[in-house]
Amino acid sequence: MPTWTLHCSACDHAQPGDRAASVCPVCGQPLLARYDRVAPGARAPHWSLWRYAPVLPLRDGERPVTLGEGLTPLVDAPALARQLGVRRVWVKDEGRNPTASFKARGMSAAITRARALGVAGIVVPTAGNAGAAVAAYAAAAGLPVRVYAPRTTPPAILMAIAALGAELELVDGHIGDAGRLATAFAAESGWLNVSTLREPYRVEGMKTMGYELVEQLDGRVPDAIVYPTGGGEGTIGIWKALLEMRDWGWLPTDARLPRMLVAQSAGCAPIVRAHAAGADRAEPWVDPDTYASGLRVPGPLGDRLLLRVLRESAGDAVAVPDAVTRDATRALAAATGLDAAPEGGCAAAAVSALVRAGRLARDAEVVVFNTGSGASYRREAEDLVAAA
Ligand SMILES: *Cc1c(COP(=O)(O)O)cnc(C)c1O
Repeated sequence: MPTWTLHCSACDHAQPGDRAASVCPVCGQPLLARYDRVAPGARAPHWSLWRYAPVLPLRDGERPVTLGEGLTPLVDAPALARQLGVRRVWVKDEGRNPTASFKARGMSAAITRARALGVAGIVVPTAGNAGAAVAAYAAAAGLPVRVYAPRTTPPAILMAIAALGAELELVDGHIGDAGRLATAFAAESGWLNVSTLREPYRVEGMKTMGYELVEQLDGRVPDAIVYPTGGGEGTIGIWKALLEMRDWGWLPTDARLPRMLVAQSAGCAPIVRAHAAGADRAEPWVDPDTYASGLRVPGPLGDRLLLRVLRESAGDAVAVPDAVTRDATRALAAATGLDAAPEGGCAAAAVSALVRAGRLARDAEVVVFNTGSGASYRREAEDLVAAA
């Protein structure tokens, strides 16, 4: 089992991985884990993302907090590929995770470390799915949890959070406003704040999407990976995995890595705007507005890391209007049989937008991430919340 240290993603600071950690104490940027020794290709006997335990933050003798997250299907989608205008498309269906989004991956890792460190409780600001995931994993670990979520979060997600026994605080505003309240509560209570990239282990759970993808493609990588990006943990995690696999010889050292393509909503596209301007950090987006709640993140802490991933991978970023995302979500579901989330629809729409603009080759093989589930957005749930 691995040992690791935490390194600042922006400056030279490093610290041991065996104590509670948040952002870099010197510059405030995210910390990332770096492992000391890794056996090539090592796998563990777990039927969950902990299959990759040799490259995850789990110490000797520890049991992970797990609900069977990860190991999601990679679905070959030839009809969708024809519609989007590329040679081949696979959809990685993250809606199949516990609490119906890839947020389960990050929370399994973060709550595993939190329990090992003996924290008293967990607090998180969320655009929705992170709240449901943390509620589930805190319940599994026997820890109390408080979730700050915008009042505009899809009702089905709010109900999942409440049903899992979390303390739910509704916020008038967006995830940035929720973040300020969560920070204040963490300071007064001593509970651990597991906000996106303010805690170094969620992204370790997220990176398993990259490990799985390569294993599911028999050691190959696609030409491009499209991720619907909000806070950036999914995108940053997958790129971290690809770099680790190349460093450790799980991929050939001369392997050409995929282009990372960021899809955002036209109503909240800080990374698309910064990338287009050639900037290395993003200005916060004023008045973020999109129904795809996972994408409503106006000022991500991971902006510099995301823009670096785009540069290093010769990637690209595109904003999709919600009306286009709505149609693309229905088309994604109808072309594949998968329960498409709007965020997944946004990623699919980004592929055709980039092809039409000549920014993605027609003979490309592309992996589209369906990061959540359509069920989380179904309207019949609204009546139940209104009656509560
Ligand atoms: C959180 C979320 C996103 C955005 O992911 P980041 O890692 O924050 O960029 C996309 N889709 C869904 C369904 C989400 O819950």
